[in-house]
Amino acid sequence: MYWLFVWHLRLLLKASCTFFLVFPEPRQTLYLPWATLKPLSSMQIQTFNVGMLSTNCYVVSCSETKEAIIIDPGFDASYEAEQVIRYVDENALKVKFIVNTHGHADHISGDEVLKRKYSAPICIHAYDAPCLEGLGENISPANVLLEDERLLKIGQITLKVMHTPGHTLGGISLVGEKLVFSGDTLFAGGIGRTDFAGGSDRDMRRSLQKLVSLPDNCVVYPGHGGFSTISEEKRVNPFLRWL
Ligand SMILES: [Zn+2]
Ligand SMILES: [Zn+2]
Repeated sequence: MYWLFVWHLRLLLKASCTFFLVFPEPRQTLYLPWATLKPLSSMQIQTFNVGMLSTNCYVVSCSETKEAIIIDPGFDASYEAEQVIRYVDENALKVKFIVNTHGHADHISGDEVLKRKYSAPICIHAYDAPCLEGLGENISPANVLLEDERLLKIGQITLKVMHTPGHTLGGISLVGEKLVFSGDTLFAGGIGRTDFAGGSDRDMRRSLQKLVSLPDNCVVYPGHGGFSTISEEKRVNPFLRWL
């Protein structure tokens, strides 16, 4: 009787192990550990959370040459500009470009103050360039019109423009080695809205197809929210299932 009990217990344990082995992995947090996000050796990425909509403003710099770009300075308050300027000054960076991933106010509102400070050109896709005009005297018109496949050189770093419309007509992502700044096209666990002026479901679908064709280990730095990777998004992002 005792051995019968033990035998059943062993069966039960075996069944439990099998259950745990086949049970799907628990959903991981979308905020990846720093180790995963460590950029290439010569590339420094500093993120500032700015504006009412918590836009991710990135300062990307080359540690060898100190050249830098500022992506999406969507400042609402002067202290937000000041903290970015302080970081640039403390690290003796030379700001080469100010880049807008698209023309929404939460990504462009700090263009003017940074342009005045660093005399750096404002770069945006041609289709979103009109967004910089007529929004008030604090908005500078574009200085460089970006197009698909254009390369931006920042010291030893090269970022390639990928036209990713869908959220806006002139939305872009910036693709580097093992990383992409995806603006409001792809977020961790979500995608940008397509119901604003210039938005399109069809364009968004094509843009997402381009983004998911990037290497799986590519780190995604979105316009809002936490960081991710292409592989993580393929696994958990419900919007990538309709591609
Ligand atoms: Zn937007
Ligand atoms: Zn935004």
